[in-house]
Amino acid sequence: LIVKDWSKFIEKITILFQNVQREVHEGKNADYIPELSTVDPELFSVSICTVDGQQFDIGDTDAEFSIQSASKPMLYSLALERYGPKYVHEYVGMEPSGAAFNSFTLNSENKPHNACINAGAIVVCGLMYPELSVAERFKKLNTEFSAFLGGEKAGFNQSVYLSEKDTAHRNKALSYFMASNGAFPKNVDIDETLDFYLQMCSIEVNSNQLAKVAATYANYGVCPTTGSTILSYDTVRRTAQLLFNCGMYDYSGRWANSTGLPAKSGVSGCLYIVVPGVLGMAVYSPRLASHGNTVRGIEFAHRAAETFGWNIFDVV
Ligand code: GLU
Repeated sequence: LIVKDWSKFIEKITILFQNVQREVHEGKNADYIPELSTVDPELFSVSICTVDGQQFDIGDTDAEFSIQSASKPMLYSLALERYGPKYVHEYVGMEPSGAAFNSFTLNSENKPHNACINAGAIVVCGLMYPELSVAERFKKLNTEFSAFLGGEKAGFNQSVYLSEKDTAHRNKALSYFMASNGAFPKNVDIDETLDFYLQMCSIEVNSNQLAKVAATYANYGVCPTTGSTILSYDTVRRTAQLLFNCGMYDYSGRWANSTGLPAKSGVSGCLYIVVPGVLGMAVYSPRLASHGNTVRGIEFAHRAAETFGWNIFDVV
């Protein structure tokens, strides 16, 4: 077993969970998507899935949340698998942007800086399944995502989707700004692509499922609970680079500096971290810090990484 003393391990996780729940109350729900502001800010859950399939869930593990930006690494991985890194990186860079996730910045080649910021994810959405109809594209993505979730079908939050669509002025402007800079392949329908992106962000999961996504990356592309190979080693390595450098918004450098793990957060308050070769962990708590990351999630993941020596540079 990868975690030798499982009961001791979950006992420590439980104590960390209770401490963070008692001590950490800062931050506030995202409100630029109105539906997210109405979610109970006290919800808190942590889920763990090891590379050999042991699982532990604590807190409000029934709570479902829209996946938001936590979908972007999966999207990037699927694009790499399907179209290859050469083609994908003709359209999106691999550098941190040093700017907010929704900012109007392109690199010197007029490409979005990376696939984790909105601009990059919208462009990658534009690359996906061009031969399919709108309905088939979403169905295909949903099916491919479910392989990461241990084969479970993801939900869809219709009100979050409508709320995002209603207030997507910035993402819309961003898409047209990119189109005017030639950032999309020819023949890509910009409105359809943006809609596909918003649908992807509204896919609904729980922390148990998100932990399996992280565990699939930690297990080098094989989902630990189903044993199916979802991604090649090359894709996992490239995605881990993206997570490590760009996964935590404009806090990514500080995160890598202090916690030292590939991770991705989303504005619904979700976060997953990848401990390569060991486990995946997901945290959900809607209150965010100003950079867009869940406050309890950051605190919990940081304490856990310290307690268990998970920084990737700690490995001897
Ligand atoms: N749907 C959100 C947006 O595009 C996702 C943002 C996020 O989670 O970072 O604004």
